[in-house]
Amino acid sequence: MIGDNLQQVRERIVKACTTVGRDPASVHLLAVSKTFPAEVVREAHAAGQTAFGENYVQEGVAKIEALRDLRQTLQWHCIGPLQSNKTRVVAEHFDWVHSIDRLKIAQRLSEQRPEHLPPLQVCLQVNVDAGANKSGAAPHEALALARSVASLPRLRLRGLMAIPEPAPDFESQRDLFLAAARVFEAIRQDGIELDTLSLGMSADLEAAIAAGSTMVRVGTAIFGRR
Ligand SMILES: *Cc1c(COP(=O)(O)O)cnc(C)c1O
Repeated sequence: MIGDNLQQVRERIVKACTTVGRDPASVHLLAVSKTFPAEVVREAHAAGQTAFGENYVQEGVAKIEALRDLRQTLQWHCIGPLQSNKTRVVAEHFDWVHSIDRLKIAQRLSEQRPEHLPPLQVCLQVNVDAGANKSGAAPHEALALARSVASLPRLRLRGLMAIPEPAPDFESQRDLFLAAARVFEAIRQDGIELDTLSLGMSADLEAAIAAGSTMVRVGTAIFGRR
């Protein structure tokens, strides 16, 4: 069943790309496995999925440990809000963090990233619909934050993540995603190399792809309802 769901999501991605004239290979699929057990991740991996997203640090680390045998072929992304007291365990276990919204968190992750691991791949979370969704840096703060984060030695800044509120139709959803895409372009114009725009979930991945998403984070459509 998970294999079929993955196949359907991959087909949605291809179709969404084709509709807007994009190469389907330019959009990566992150399977969001929060609340589902390690054995379900194993099943998705057997169906060819390698990148997984977790919101809750403790739960994510427990799964990473339970799937040690697959560690070399799995990529673990921390996508949930991050408190200072959790940065060490994240720096020690995950490959990516999408939810950096302030410099202090980034500094701690850089200091705490173990020497034997490659730099932690990170995205800044930007709050594009101010007020509605409280996590994330304000768009006008994003460039300064990007400059600071890009200079941290044990992090590699890859891009931006945003989670706009659900909108009533495709165009308004796409417009919210486009606000994130504009911040992304402004940072690139500044000379900072970014390649990842983490936008879109089960319900709105087509609108995100129309706005330029390079990574969709999909839970429900792959694993079922939580
Ligand atoms: C849960 C979650 C997702 C996946 O959402 P679905 O609607 O289940 O696809 C994506 N991104 C973040 C940050 C999440 O917390």
